[in-house]
Amino acid sequence: MTDDAKSPELETIAVHAGGEHDPETGAITPPIHLATTYEHGADGTGGHGFIYVRHGNPTEQRLERALAAIERGDSALVFSSGVAAGTAVLQTLPAGSHVIFPLDVYANFRTMGETQFARWNLEASFVDMREIELVRAAIRPSTRLIWCETPSNPLLQIVDLRAVAAVSREAETLMVVDNTFATPVLQRPLELGADIILHSTTKYFGGHSDVQGGALVFSSQRSDLSARLREYRELTGAVASPFNSWLVLRGLRSLAPRMERHCRNAVALATAIDGHERLEAVHYPGLATDPGHEIARRQMSMFGGMVSIQVRGGRAAAVAVASRARLFANATSLGGAESLIELRIAMEGPLSRSPENLLRLSVGLEHERDLIADIMQALE
Ligand SMILES: *Cc1c(COP(=O)(O)O)cnc(C)c1O
Repeated sequence: MTDDAKSPELETIAVHAGGEHDPETGAITPPIHLATTYEHGADGTGGHGFIYVRHGNPTEQRLERALAAIERGDSALVFSSGVAAGTAVLQTLPAGSHVIFPLDVYANFRTMGETQFARWNLEASFVDMREIELVRAAIRPSTRLIWCETPSNPLLQIVDLRAVAAVSREAETLMVVDNTFATPVLQRPLELGADIILHSTTKYFGGHSDVQGGALVFSSQRSDLSARLREYRELTGAVASPFNSWLVLRGLRSLAPRMERHCRNAVALATAIDGHERLEAVHYPGLATDPGHEIARRQMSMFGGMVSIQVRGGRAAAVAVASRARLFANATSLGGAESLIELRIAMEGPLSRSPENLLRLSVGLEHERDLIADIMQALE
């Protein structure tokens, strides 16, 4: 994927970024600095570049350098969760701003738009971004931000990021891309014209279902925003702990080969169950018949590890299928080594737009034969 011959490939960056050997001991893996406070001069100046843990700490800095490098951004900021990272972007918009969200968007952001925006003096529109004319038509003089999520949660819809970037440039708005499902291994939104990338590092970056985190990565044109959001994070406190930063950095080391396996397994599973008589639909951009397939082929290198299915017979039939799964655990979240299945509408709460019969599958790192066998027996 590298177009600059001088810079290392993504797999190499993932293994080494932020991993400078500890100068004091030569340790190959980074130390975790748990200190909450750092020595400074008697007048409050000087010291070693660190002051207090909420302002920044050495372990977090390593992760931020690594995330900027892997997304080919200018800088990165890590947060306590993906939602905290996204909220920081929204809350630093000028009062009166209008935001355009996709119709299929991570549930917390839709709920925020519908229940919190009025108090924050913001306005939200939700549009089907697969129709670029609808994005263009939604632009108002007060529009400051276009928010994309592709592949989307939970319908795995694909949005043409280059096309949205053109509208965003024309309207002089910011463009944020939630790249959680794709990860930089599959998709590089900054190269397609985005200003900011959002990640829930809780998912594929962490990779082991044992750490919560979020991140923003900024394009080089947006270093002003990066500085503003750093101040906001320090002020409001949604910081990542040093230990969580360390776990996410450790997860990054194996991100590329894990994504390859997640994707290979998801392709195998989606292909095996596509057209099954018990299913109304299989949503997966890797299927040639999927409406997002052509765009996904252009802007992604593989099609991701998430598959959603709609079961014939409504909610009860979907619950019955989930209850019969043995290898796939009944649990929310995604991106871990183990495969998970969930009735999405039950997790998203009252404002959910997820179809009642939709099961979302996070395809893990097990052998594809076992995964296919498990879903097949659950569908019987
Ligand atoms: C999980 C998720 C989030 C939120 O991240 P948290 O770390 O749970 O706060 C945002 N966007 C997408 C696409 C997600 O899957």
